[in-house]
Amino acid sequence: MGASHQGVRQRRSAVMRNWRSWPSKHHRRARKLWREATAEKTLPSPDPSTDVTLGRVNAGPRGIDHAVDLIAGRRVLALTGAGLSTDSGIPDYRGPGSPPRTPMTYAEFVSGEAAQRRYWARALVGWRQLSYADPNPGHHALAALERGGVVTGLITQNVDGLHSRAGQHQLIDLHGRVANVVCLTCRHSSSRREVHRRLSDLNPHVADRTGTIAPDGDAVLDDVDGFQLVRCACGGALKPDVVFFGENVPRDRVAHAMGWLDQAEVLLVAGSSLHVMSGFRFVRRAAEAGIPVIIINRGPTRGDALATRKLEMGCAQALTDLAYAVRAPDSAVHHQPA
Ligand SMILES: [Zn+2]
Repeated sequence: MGASHQGVRQRRSAVMRNWRSWPSKHHRRARKLWREATAEKTLPSPDPSTDVTLGRVNAGPRGIDHAVDLIAGRRVLALTGAGLSTDSGIPDYRGPGSPPRTPMTYAEFVSGEAAQRRYWARALVGWRQLSYADPNPGHHALAALERGGVVTGLITQNVDGLHSRAGQHQLIDLHGRVANVVCLTCRHSSSRREVHRRLSDLNPHVADRTGTIAPDGDAVLDDVDGFQLVRCACGGALKPDVVFFGENVPRDRVAHAMGWLDQAEVLLVAGSSLHVMSGFRFVRRAAEAGIPVIIINRGPTRGDALATRKLEMGCAQALTDLAYAVRAPDSAVHHQPA
């Protein structure tokens, strides 16, 4: 990890800290600074001496090469998690430095208006901050691998929509997207932006507040008495169209994703600890079917024992190296030669 990369990180966390105290009139500037800090795609160049270890075999410095050998000429299905978006400034609930809190569960959300008021008040603050985030080189590398015909499909556990913004087309948002809202009564789907506009109009005292961002666009915020909820035209309660903790992924969506796995020749996991069954089951099924599994993640994952290759690396670095190595079109765009 080069000094310049470290610098970007420090600047980014400075931006994150400063946000908490910035009033809304400074948000445009905040967004600009944020973009500068994160969009500075100073990816370290592919480095043969990168610290790479494989799951069961220490491959030494050529770990990436082993992964490249595995994916070359094969149809690769990618599965991504929160660790991929941390380089975009979106914290991971389970990663190092994650917020000391747990997200609202589905059961709590549907328990009544008090919980929904608490959720939406926090979301009104947190989602705006989430909307500042941009795709990072890891997202761009995966999109380049798709354009190169290497990655034939991507399943993500992330709800931030960054894969789509990076240009990924064959994409299943396993846990939904924070940008959409659904009515719990009539299932009508609407735009989160519109819901937030209505919430802001009803609750200007909350809309101007700032809080600490969380992965699902939630924010840490106390004291939400008197917060006015927005309802569907049918009178039903609105919920972000994402799979909450304790909620099941819709069955047809799982079947669709499993269909993609059955056609794949390699499963490439990036940035997921695989603690949640909704992701782990793909690794288990791949292993059962004899499909090689490559896992890129800093720290242990639930799938390590099933992995053919494990790369203990940051996602942006590893994916850029992979894209570069298999010469996916455009992968060099974000690559700065040393
Ligand atoms: Zn409705």
